[in-house]
Amino acid sequence: MTLADQLRARIDTSGPLRLDAWMAACNRAFYGGADPLGRDFTTAPEISQMFGEMIGGWIGDLWLRAGAPAFDLVELGPGRGTLLADALRVLRRLPGFAAAVRVQLVETSDVLRDAQAARLANWPVQWHADLAELPGDRPLILIANEFFDALPIRQRKEGHERHVGLADDAFVPVWRVSPGPDAEWSEASTAIMAGLAARLERQGGAALIIDYGHDGGSNGDTLQALKGGARACPFADPGAHDLTAHVDFGALAAAAQGLACHGPVGQGAFLAELGIAARAAALKSGKPPAQAATITAALHRLTAPQQMGAIFRVAAVTAPGWPAPAGFGMAAA
Ligand code: SAH
Repeated sequence: MTLADQLRARIDTSGPLRLDAWMAACNRAFYGGADPLGRDFTTAPEISQMFGEMIGGWIGDLWLRAGAPAFDLVELGPGRGTLLADALRVLRRLPGFAAAVRVQLVETSDVLRDAQAARLANWPVQWHADLAELPGDRPLILIANEFFDALPIRQRKEGHERHVGLADDAFVPVWRVSPGPDAEWSEASTAIMAGLAARLERQGGAALIIDYGHDGGSNGDTLQALKGGARACPFADPGAHDLTAHVDFGALAAAAQGLACHGPVGQGAFLAELGIAARAAALKSGKPPAQAATITAALHRLTAPQQMGAIFRVAAVTAPGWPAPAGFGMAAA
């Protein structure tokens, strides 16, 4: 039975599916299928090694200033494992780092777990399906790049909540009565953030969240589907494309009770403060012009405001007693 058949049967039996249930079912199938990265969308770590290297510098700086404790390096939704592979190549040069770190990956897709295992073959890696499975005996430094945007959302407009129903055999949006203000919100995201905050408060550590989104207060419709880099209809072909929504950083900060919040700032400002321009110059030096031009183009794509520099936001939360992280000094952007 295809996913479409299963969803049709569910709707026939129990009526229209709420948007978050639809999105969860579609994305589980999408990420569980063939490796979607590069085919349907490209993420920052896949654009250039510089991205993961900058995050590696961020992690190393924080870890050292926290007193270089034994800790868990956690990534939520690590994709192909590229970010951590690039970060760990930088981090491994720090004295004592390799002995202090355990790598914990939260990933539901078996296909992507295989890709991660291949990339991180030299590191002590453990996989988990859920944040709740992480060990509780050490501080953690957690990274989530383009993770929260894939989590299910709900939408309400003019006293009606968005569902997905059937017209003949086609999936169509259906709005059902539901009193309340106009809103787009993600209970899955705030639940994960609240669980993470409780854990950080107990165990110590920090989390770095990078995603396209807004700082709160927006109630527009940001649901989108991408197929082969182009926009597709979120209600056609369930499981064939990635469903995402803009991340509400204000809601995440509100869920991070007991922690210090830093940012959000634009990804461009964050990477600039971590020194990405110097890294690009070093990588370009002595390279043939075509290769140097590729590095310049990647730098532009990651940092320019009209590219990923402004719409992608970066925020961090830190546990009580942990130092303030690097990268949040230029709050203006
Ligand atoms: N961080 C990577 C990949 C982003 S794509 C990068 O920047 O390249 C989203 C990732 O989150 C994929 O690895 C996907 O399989 C994973 N994912 C999506 N929903 C998830 C969930 N509910 N629990 C755990 N992982 C999830």
